Amino acid sequence: MKLRKINRLLVANRGEIAIRIFRAATELGIRTIAIYSEQDNVSLHRFKADESYLVGAGKGPIEAYLDIESIIDIAKRNDVDAIHPGYGFLAENAEFAKRCQEEGIIFIGPSPELIEKFGDKVEARNMAIQAGIPVIPGTAEPIESLQDALLFGKQHGYPIIIKGVSGGGGRGMRIVRNQEELKEALDRARSEARSAFGNAKVYLERYLENPKHIEVQILGDEHGNIVHLYERDCSVQRRHQKVVEVAPSLSLSGKLREEICQAALKLMKNVGYTNAGTVEFLVTPDQKYYFIEVNPRIQVEHTITELITGIDIVQAQIRIAEGHSLSDPEISIGSQAEVRTNGYAIQCRVTTEDPENDFFPDTGRLLAYRSGGGFGVRLDAGNGYAGAVITPYYDSLLVKISTFGVTFEQAAKKMLRTLREFRIRGVKTNLPFLENVVTHPDFLSGNYDTSFIDTKPELFA
Ligand code: ADP
Repeated sequence: MKLRKINRLLVANRGEIAIRIFRAATELGIRTIAIYSEQDNVSLHRFKADESYLVGAGKGPIEAYLDIESIIDIAKRNDVDAIHPGYGFLAENAEFAKRCQEEGIIFIGPSPELIEKFGDKVEARNMAIQAGIPVIPGTAEPIESLQDALLFGKQHGYPIIIKGVSGGGGRGMRIVRNQEELKEALDRARSEARSAFGNAKVYLERYLENPKHIEVQILGDEHGNIVHLYERDCSVQRRHQKVVEVAPSLSLSGKLREEICQAALKLMKNVGYTNAGTVEFLVTPDQKYYFIEVNPRIQVEHTITELITGIDIVQAQIRIAEGHSLSDPEISIGSQAEVRTNGYAIQCRVTTEDPENDFFPDTGRLLAYRSGGGFGVRLDAGNGYAGAVITPYYDSLLVKISTFGVTFEQAAKKMLRTLREFRIRGVKTNLPFLENVVTHPDFLSGNYDTSFIDTKPELFA
């Protein structure tokens, strides 16, 4: 296969992930191009790129980054070879990936066909079933009527979780504990799904009590080589959204870890997956694992896998998109046997949310911003500087702190020290809450599942 050299890379995103990708590209000698909305006129990601262009003029803050034709136009006018979508915005938009292809621009990610398939969670489940991977009892099709839902409840029992077919970010999910709650929950889930994802279709799954969220990082090249980079434990969640992630998981036996990683690999091999992706599972207290979904893109928490494997996943994505194989010196991953992990890593998502006001996003000017640091500490920040204005328009993620230690205890101690070194004034953050999480005895012993935050009022103290 012919290599396609990427000389000029546009990142169709903002904030910390745009900066993360610029850094990866710059190290590879690639010229970086930012896009920014009118509202992001002075945002840091704009100035971290070699060039920057206004996108979606006259559009709203989110709509600007979703303006496919404006992005393609900027790319064409500025000789862009490739576009990296980051996460969120257009990262899982098959139409965008297709438009890039049509214009001869490399889209850094899997094929539009796979983005589309994995974007439909019912179809994703069916692909997992085809690969022989355990799924949670659920509906094989989106449900059409209350009758279908009632029937499912009769057959499989309660509790049930209602999920949007195009769902994401933990939104639009509803837990139903008995038949009486079903009708109202279904109506609400549908209308939430419609307004959040533009698709009112929902499906049902049995709701598992107290599972762990375990996900496996995958990298595949365009020559049929595919490896996993082991797992992340993302069970520390608030309202089904990840808050703190750990790699590797403290609580999987060697055998179960191997089974889950192999299952993820099998699914992705089966569909001919290329580039970076993540297969997510739930693991029940009786040590059974079940597929939940595939995220066909880079994830927020990829940093901790990088820390324990030494592999730069974003650079690997770029090289894969150029046509390199995993064993080429440009990627240097080689075979599965050559992927090794060392030590432990933890990531905390520092957000501008007020823990005292039900984590409502706070906004305003950062009057002080002094970050922690030191050996074993990695920071991925968006607008993290004194004087920056935190607007209400975007995700409240301010900085990701990732720490590495030879032992988990070391990584946790570094995390606590770093959280305490931070001084952020002017805007409320969840720093005190994160301190409570990383010092909690259940967190430190690995004895936690997705109910951890909801069942520990002491974390909010
Ligand atoms: P999203 O794409 O919105 O993030 P996921 O399907 O990945 O949705 O699920 C997010 C989280 O919701 C999971 O990590 C888990 O905590 C919870 N969850 C999802 N499905 C189930 C289920 N069937 N039983 C119990 N918890 C679930």
